[in-house]
Amino acid sequence: MTDPAIRIALPPTVSRLLGALRRAGHSAYVVGGCVRDSLLGKIPDDWDICTAATPAQIKKIFSGYRQILTGEKHGTVAVIVGGHPYEITTYRLDGTYHDSRHPDAVYFVPELSRDLARRDFTVNAMAYAPGEGLVDAFGGRDDLRAGIIRCVGVPEERFAEDALRILRAVRFASQLNFSLDGATARAAVRDAETIQNVSAERIYTELDKLLAGPAAGRALSSCGSILAGAIPEIAPCIGCTQPGRWHCYDVWQHTAVAVGALDVSGQDEKGARVLRWSVLLHDLAKPECRTLGPDGAAHFPGHNQRGGRMARTILRRLHAPSYLIEGAGVLVAIHDSALPDDVPGTLQMLNRYGASFLQRLCRVKLADLAGHARNSAVEARERQVRAFEARMLELSATACYTVGQLAVNGGDLMALGIPPGPAVGQILNRLLQAVMEGRLPNERMALLRQAGKEYAP
Ligand code: ATP
Ligand code: MG
Repeated sequence: MTDPAIRIALPPTVSRLLGALRRAGHSAYVVGGCVRDSLLGKIPDDWDICTAATPAQIKKIFSGYRQILTGEKHGTVAVIVGGHPYEITTYRLDGTYHDSRHPDAVYFVPELSRDLARRDFTVNAMAYAPGEGLVDAFGGRDDLRAGIIRCVGVPEERFAEDALRILRAVRFASQLNFSLDGATARAAVRDAETIQNVSAERIYTELDKLLAGPAAGRALSSCGSILAGAIPEIAPCIGCTQPGRWHCYDVWQHTAVAVGALDVSGQDEKGARVLRWSVLLHDLAKPECRTLGPDGAAHFPGHNQRGGRMARTILRRLHAPSYLIEGAGVLVAIHDSALPDDVPGTLQMLNRYGASFLQRLCRVKLADLAGHARNSAVEARERQVRAFEARMLELSATACYTVGQLAVNGGDLMALGIPPGPAVGQILNRLLQAVMEGRLPNERMALLRQAGKEYAP
């Protein structure tokens, strides 16, 4: 239960906060994710403290500090030290749940053990205090060693209290590269539909963290029917076979491999998010579009466009941010379209989508291809994507593919006598087309000469 041999190095501020609570006569520990991550040798993002002190007592002990009291009703006082908030929460029980969603009330309790018992998974239900050691009442350390996500208590009961825990189980499996314990997994599959009782925002946040986990592909592969509780469109993808030379997986396993293979290096946070969701959603319309050719091979006509619409619908339903709805909607809608293999075609794509979007399209395509059968046709497609990406990046740095990059502007055309109005823009666009197609150099004199010819009053 308590192992005094375990030592966790606490940041000095956390030690001071614990010390202050303990000197005031209250039991206090660091708890949850920070203990789990420390035992895994990772540096925790934040350190949560739990204590027998009530919110009123916490407020008094730290009255010299700025505090955030928005969580006070639930027992949490955030104390700001050095500009950083540290959450200190009174030991509590969650009251009864009537809707797999929120406790009707929380009750403060004096014992750490009862607070640990209300936590979701054994690996998240450990506490630590210097001098005392690790408090591990549910075998969290063994599960951490074995790589297992296991509910504290009876899984069905814990999921009935808060259905978000079903998704959290998969999220932690993805973040930690763990597996679900058998009983936890069975209950999660059985109760997956109750995830719908949870608010869209909470579902979105968990899915987003899940997708960003280092083992997202593996978690998706093994937990498809659980995730279908959050996104029902996943269900028909499971077992939707793709006979023919291109594929060796069903649509869902293909998706899982593609998510696992996705490369988000060099992307900012938003770009990486758009990519991850795009790959998750890219083929969800396939079951609706599936046809078998005379040779027995599967075809999915229109799954691009339809998938784009589905992606938007799903992301809107999850209350995702609008840049994500838009970005993933477009990427999914064109994820399977052919890439040009010549310079003018590449410049047209640059003009329409811009370099950073096209780079994302290439990442989606490569992830998609990684989830195909391994054969020479697939490898040829991969080479084609890489060649397009290299050409596109080079052209984006050197070539002219927007009106703004032309060696003449609207003022120059008006100086030629072309009257202000739509004609100016139309002629600039025709000049740009000619430059992109290699019919004209992007040089001032040549462009002005051509502009004079284009304008017929
Ligand atoms: P992260 O690194 O994502 O912050 P975490 O384990 O700290 O991981 P949080 O969501 O911050 O996760 O929750 C903190 C702790 O609170 C968890 O470790 C767990 O003990 C408990 N907890 C959080 N959400 C729930 C829940 N829905 N049901 C039960 N316990 C929960
Ligand atoms: Mg946390």
